[in-house]
Amino acid sequence: NGLIVSFGEMLIDFVPTVSGVSLAEAPGFIKAPGGAPANVAIAVTRLGGNAAFVGKLGDDEFGQMLAGILRENGVSADGVNFDKDARTALAFVTLRADGEREFMFYRNPSADMLLTPDELNLDLIRSAKVFHYGSISLIVEPCRSAHLKAMEVAKAAGALLSYDPNLRLPLWSSAEEARKQILSIWNQAEVIKVSDEELQFLTQNDNIDDESAMSLWHDNLKLLLVTLGDKGCRYYTKNFRGAVDAYRVKTVDTTGAGDSFVGALLYKIVDDQAIIEDESRLKEVLKYACACGAITTTKKGAIPALPTPSQVLTVLNGTATE
Ligand code: ATP
Repeated sequence: NGLIVSFGEMLIDFVPTVSGVSLAEAPGFIKAPGGAPANVAIAVTRLGGNAAFVGKLGDDEFGQMLAGILRENGVSADGVNFDKDARTALAFVTLRADGEREFMFYRNPSADMLLTPDELNLDLIRSAKVFHYGSISLIVEPCRSAHLKAMEVAKAAGALLSYDPNLRLPLWSSAEEARKQILSIWNQAEVIKVSDEELQFLTQNDNIDDESAMSLWHDNLKLLLVTLGDKGCRYYTKNFRGAVDAYRVKTVDTTGAGDSFVGALLYKIVDDQAIIEDESRLKEVLKYACACGAITTTKKGAIPALPTPSQVLTVLNGTATE
C-alpha cells in the first residue's frame, strides 16, 4: 500500500467521566488520545493501510505514551520529534447538556507548536503518496513554517495533498484570522473535506447547499467533500456532484467521525486516484467512508472507536446488530 503521511498535532483530550456536564462540574476526567491528523493516520492503518504521523510531542510521559499508541497501531513514528522543554499538548473537552462542545486547551506553548522546518523528516515526507494536514499547525510559528515546507516538499515529490481544516476557533486570535489563514493554503489542496459548520464559517453564509460548496471550488481541486453528520456527505468534482446517505447506528460520541471518514477515503484512493474521476466507484468509496464515520460514533473516544475492516463489512452489509 502507498504511504499516507499525516501532518500536525497529536494530543491528549481529557474528557469527563460523566456526560452532559460543564468542565467546571466534571467530577473527574479520563485520558482520550487524539488530534485529528493522528486519528487519520490510525484510521488508515486500522483498515489495513500504510501511514506515518509527522509532528512534535513533549519528551514527557504523555509524549512517550502517544508515540507508543502510534507504534502499537502500526503507524510510523519516524517523523515524530520530541521537545526537551515543552509539554505534550492537552485539551479538556466536554459535551455539555445543551449539546455544545466546550474546549479548554493547554498550549503555552505545547511541543506540537514548536516543530521547526529543520526538524522535518524530509525523506519520509518525500515517500508519501498522499500528504494530509489540518489547520491547527498553521496557527503559530515555527510550526506554521514547518507545515508550509512539508506541504511543498510532499507536493514536489508528487504526493496528492489532502486538507481537512478542522476548525478550532478558540485556538485562533480571531475568527477573521482563522478564516484568512485556513484559506491561505486552500488552492494547494487537491482533496478537501469540510463539515457543514466549516462550510458556513468559511463562506460566511448560513446556507449548506451546492452553490455555497461550489464557492469554495478552485482549479487545482479534484474532490470537495462536505460531511453532514447523521445526514451523510455531499461530493463535488469537476464533472459530477451528488450525495451519500449516512448509515444508521446507535451514536454515543461523535468524536473522530470526520477523521475516520477521511482516513477511510484516503486509504481507498491512495493507490488508485482514478477513483475520483469515476462517479460510481467514488460513491462506493464514500459509502465505505460513511460507514467508517458511523462506526466511530458508536463508542466513546476517537482512537478506540476507529473501525477494523470486519466492522465496516458488517455495517455495509446491513448486518449490524446495533
Ligand atoms: P468530527 O469533527 O466530530 O470528527 P466532522 O464534523 O468532521 O466530525 P461528521 O460530519 O460529523 O464530520 O462525520 C463524518 C461522517 O461520519 C459523516 O459524513 C457520516 O457519514 C458519519 N457520521 C457522523 N455522525 C454520524 C451519526 N450520528 N450517524 C451516522 N453516521 C455519522
